[in-house]
Amino acid sequence: MLAPTPRAAPAAAAAMRMDAYRIAAEPYYRSVGDELALFEAACAQRLPVMLKGPTGCGKTRLVERMAWALQRPLITVACNDDTSVGDLVGRHLLDADGTHWQDGPLTLAVRHGAICYLDEVVEARADTLAVIHPLTDTRRLLPIDRRNELLKAHPDFQLVVSYNPGTPGAPRELKAATRQRFCALDCSYPGTEVEVEIVARESGIPTDLAASLVALGVRTRRLQGEGLDEGASTRMLVRAAQLIAGGTAPAAACRMALVAPLSDDPDLGAALRAAVDASF
Ligand code: ADP
Repeated sequence: MLAPTPRAAPAAAAAMRMDAYRIAAEPYYRSVGDELALFEAACAQRLPVMLKGPTGCGKTRLVERMAWALQRPLITVACNDDTSVGDLVGRHLLDADGTHWQDGPLTLAVRHGAICYLDEVVEARADTLAVIHPLTDTRRLLPIDRRNELLKAHPDFQLVVSYNPGTPGAPRELKAATRQRFCALDCSYPGTEVEVEIVARESGIPTDLAASLVALGVRTRRLQGEGLDEGASTRMLVRAAQLIAGGTAPAAACRMALVAPLSDDPDLGAALRAAVDASF
């Protein structure tokens, strides 16, 4: 059976649609090494990029900054184990005028030359991820089986995935057949001085207060594997700092933004609260 003819999307409408994915203002990203240059080098060679690192360490901000610098739309997909090929590629929809095809986020990016960022790619099932394989080699093709179409990627299309190798209780690992298709950048929490700079800049709190927060965060990271799955991320420290900037007392802000989200274990919670009280 032939697939229904897709509605012709006028070029202007498509351009307007993609404008919604453009990043208007330069995102603040404090580089921690040569990751910006390496990311740009991979994009110049049209190589897919994998960002490896713990949650909240700056992977998404890095992609946003690169999308802005390269002036490409950024289409983000938060992967989970229900993510299907249809969710990525698209599907036929039924409306009053009949059936029409709607591109999924990956197809949109491939067609119009955007960066497609698959966040937490390990959460998606291996059979779903197989659809990206032909996009990651020199063919740069997206098979759209439901439309009998093989879509050649726009020259500006860029695939980026993020992967937290230490995801506690992760149901699966990323298969070698998938991971070996990517250039990978190891991302981790910034060094103390840089993290203080980020926390102060993102929240507006004074540097000495940001330094106390970061010192507390570093202490929680030492508890990783000793009851804590992961220590406080840069994101958590920024949130605590934002609460403080809004007028919350530092110890209360830390209990709310760090202690409670980090652990449900009463003993560990007590230890973390004691660390907070010793810090502020
Ligand atoms: P991830 O994608 O690794 O989970 P994000 O990129 O969302 O983490 O980072 C979480 C937050 O931490 C950001 O919103 C930002 O406030 C802050 N952040 C982390 N690293 C940086 C950095 N290098 N430069 C600027 N902000 C950062």
